[in-house]
Amino acid sequence: MSVHAGSCLCGAIRYRTSTELSDFGYCHCKSCQKASGAGHGANAGVARDNLELEDSAGQLREYESSPGKIRAFCGRCGTPILAYLKRTPELVRIRLGTLDTDFDKSAKAHTFVSEKASWETIEDDVPQFDAWADRSVLEQVGSKQP
Ligand SMILES: [Zn+2]
Ligand SMILES: [Zn+2]
Repeated sequence: MSVHAGSCLCGAIRYRTSTELSDFGYCHCKSCQKASGAGHGANAGVARDNLELEDSAGQLREYESSPGKIRAFCGRCGTPILAYLKRTPELVRIRLGTLDTDFDKSAKAHTFVSEKASWETIEDDVPQFDAWADRSVLEQVGSKQP
């Protein structure tokens, strides 16, 4: 039984998770802006063992955006699907915009607000951090969070 299902824009890549996703935050760092094409990234972690990826046309591409950090996307439509660290490949971070199922959690933190785009405004009461969130507020599963 799956908890969540998702797909890229063209449908070449589909996935299902057998567990709930981790808590998440909005990451305003410059790499998340570029990788998402938007003001911030929104990603939640799941164990690779609990993720079933379907890529029958072999479209999943990987890009090492910074040393040890892999971002995977659809080679046909460009949708970012997930990211993981080479040192912890057993944990992946799913791009929440690819979900086709409802996800009831809400963001726990704004991270890397020091790199926020000037055109994006934050108008909620979610805690803000200049860089990584404090682990007591948000555990960013599968990230480089210290
Ligand atoms: Zn696609
Ligand atoms: Zn980021």
